[in-house]
Amino acid sequence: MSVGIRYNWEQAEIRAIYDTPLLELIYQAASVHRQYHDPTKIQVCKLISIKTGGCPEDCSYCAQSSRYQTQVKPQALLEKETVLSIAQQAKESGVSRVCMGAAWREVRDNSQFDQVLSMVKEVTALGLEVCCTLGMLTEAQAKRLSDAGLYAYNHNLDTSPDYYSTIITTRTYDDRLNTINNVRQTNVTVCSGGILGLGESVDDRVSMLHTLATLRPHPESVPINILSKVAGTPLENQPDVPIWDVVRMIAMARILMPASDVRLSAGRAKLSQVEQALCFLAGANSIFSSDNGHMLTVTTACPGYDADSEMLNLLGLEMRPPFVRV
Ligand code: SAM
Ligand code: SF4
Repeated sequence: MSVGIRYNWEQAEIRAIYDTPLLELIYQAASVHRQYHDPTKIQVCKLISIKTGGCPEDCSYCAQSSRYQTQVKPQALLEKETVLSIAQQAKESGVSRVCMGAAWREVRDNSQFDQVLSMVKEVTALGLEVCCTLGMLTEAQAKRLSDAGLYAYNHNLDTSPDYYSTIITTRTYDDRLNTINNVRQTNVTVCSGGILGLGESVDDRVSMLHTLATLRPHPESVPINILSKVAGTPLENQPDVPIWDVVRMIAMARILMPASDVRLSAGRAKLSQVEQALCFLAGANSIFSSDNGHMLTVTTACPGYDADSEMLNLLGLEMRPPFVRV
């Protein structure tokens, strides 16, 4: 089977693919994966929370929202030296991309943004791809990040347009799409995906995939997150997401956006090696790894470098070098 890149997907077509028997779907996704990527290479990313907690937004899943009583203690913007030393250590462990996250609603044109721009320049100078996730951006701010050398901007759609307001009320889906569009006016690549386990229906999953797969061009990177249930948030008691749903969504993203990197992100720490191997077979080719077992926040776990490097060896996979997109 040989497939081309398409942007004119219909919801009904996506639903029909979603309903394909699972092993057949995995086989199709694995075939597409081999057409567009070297299946032996995995992108390994390191997330640095440069500004943690105290966020005014009400995202129902998030440990960093100031609206919920969680274990996260708000922290000021990290010093550049701290970020550089974490990035350097990550590079020595084989990481190719550093993702700097801030618990902000939006970027403001102030000295904190200037500091972030300086971090972007210096981490890029270490020879690493830099991704930022800082909330909403104007086109002018996206341009400044691009001028600083930013490689990617993460802005997740999280769920379907219809379900969005059940999860977040402090911004709209269109706000999200506007920021992605602002990033698209620059050379910075787009990273955008969603979360499984928010209580969404299959139609919501199909609709989110439809939104992503009809963006032209597709996001270069598509994270598939599994909800990390955070005590104190409205979604703390959501049921677990079956691994089969995770594998199915990864396969869907791979088939619909063949050239994109599909990232198995939040929630990976709970998956066994066998479960992760299925995700790689279904087309996931990117992961977050860490030295301290933490990812998005202190409450969202992430597997360590050593455990990951052992798993990749076991599966015959290698870490992909920076600035290579195959
Ligand atoms: N404030 C910025 C924003 O919302 O775009 C950036 C930081 S935010 C932590 C980045 C992404 O992490 C969110 O878009 C969401 O998809 C993911 N995320 C946050 N908390 C999560 C959780 N508990 N489980 C799964 N994914 C989560
Ligand atoms: Fe704030 Fe981002 Fe968390 Fe939403 S996901 S509460 S915007 S840090």
